[in-house]
Amino acid sequence: HQSGRTRPEIVAARKEKLLPNLSISYSEPIKFVRGEGAWLIDDRGRAYLDCFNNVCHLGHAHPDVVEAISKQAAKLNTNTRYLHDNIVTYAERLTATLPDGLAVASFACSGSEANSLALRMARAHTGRSDAIVLDWAYHGTTQELIDLSPYKYKRKGGKGRPAHVFEAVIPDSYRGPADWPVEEHAKRFAQSIAEQIETMQSQGRAPAYFIAESIPSVAGQVFLPECYLKEVYAMLRAAGGVCIADEVQVGFGRVGSHWWAFEMQGVVPDVVTMGKPIGNGHPMAAVVTTHEVAASFNNGMEYFNTFGGNPVSCAAGLAVLDVIERDGLKQNAAEIGAYLMKRFRELQARYEIIGDVRGAGLFLGIELVTDRKTKEPATALARRINDGARKRGVLIGTEGPHDNVLKMRPPMIFSRANADHLVSVLDDSFKAALAEA
Ligand code: PMP
Repeated sequence: HQSGRTRPEIVAARKEKLLPNLSISYSEPIKFVRGEGAWLIDDRGRAYLDCFNNVCHLGHAHPDVVEAISKQAAKLNTNTRYLHDNIVTYAERLTATLPDGLAVASFACSGSEANSLALRMARAHTGRSDAIVLDWAYHGTTQELIDLSPYKYKRKGGKGRPAHVFEAVIPDSYRGPADWPVEEHAKRFAQSIAEQIETMQSQGRAPAYFIAESIPSVAGQVFLPECYLKEVYAMLRAAGGVCIADEVQVGFGRVGSHWWAFEMQGVVPDVVTMGKPIGNGHPMAAVVTTHEVAASFNNGMEYFNTFGGNPVSCAAGLAVLDVIERDGLKQNAAEIGAYLMKRFRELQARYEIIGDVRGAGLFLGIELVTDRKTKEPATALARRINDGARKRGVLIGTEGPHDNVLKMRPPMIFSRANADHLVSVLDDSFKAALAEA
């Protein structure tokens, strides 16, 4: 049953009325009209398995979140200058998922706002403003965050690396120098951070902060070498800098083994930023920090965010935490993620073009190469497989500097049957793409 405008009509109206920088997924765009669990349903009644959209953490239109939002919206929604239970209860519940020390929360409406606030905290705490980032990182939409995002400032439309930003190499073990012993990857890659700190010091500068995703995603689902963040955090702290973990994509139990992906590295950041899955689609974000950093930030200037931390957003956030805990979704992410990794390795044994498979819980990547020795990126093939999966009713994405990594972030309710379906569609898409090539 078709309702509203046709697909071409919407494309035309977007062209006419929306900022042209807004992109559309797929050469044949899809119009979705409904979401349910792991599925998105289009205007022709076709269901697509959503293995990509990070935000719908508990599945699309989760009844508990819908009920929590609508009940609270029907009763009261206002700002944080009035007293309300939800914001304090949510702050207690959220900080309880974090290591001791990360005890003070603040709320915003987007991942960008959360990162922006984290930067202000780091600057207030250190009295400095210079940054260390990882190559190919993305941290948000505002100019100050574009300035911290090589993924943006190095590409078309970007103005290059600003003087206050220092860029370390992506600690990508798969593409590390062949003569580096794997057990030394953390130390060797961290050397790039040490070099940035030395460069800063030679210019009379020092780092205010280091910001990185706990699993760099835009860089191609890159899993940090074991103990890498331990090395890096020690260097930053020795130089007086603050360590910020961007958990906007990877947080809230997605990695299965832990609530937060930085925990896989055995470190405790000074500031953690969260977004995307936090409200299962309701626009919401958070920053959690230590009492020490919070005290430095409390310099007399108020932090007021009109919508941040409102009763409806916090009701959504509470429902998300409730469902993750009640339904054992961290455990599910761990189990289904391990199963998917096993199935991906089976695909790798059959398809020479799969150079690497990597994942933790339901955060996964398959890197495609034309030659396993030279690791030449198979960019065109990745695009064909992505399109092939869409044609077969499965949504995934491509990522990385060469856009040759198949990226998957299915919802936390992903079942074994969903996993089998994804693998079978990938298998068919690989076969078809290779036959075309
Ligand atoms: N950090 C990371 C790692 C992200 O992936 C994103 C969004 N893609 C952001 C920050 C910015 O979040 P938002 O779009 O909600 O402002």
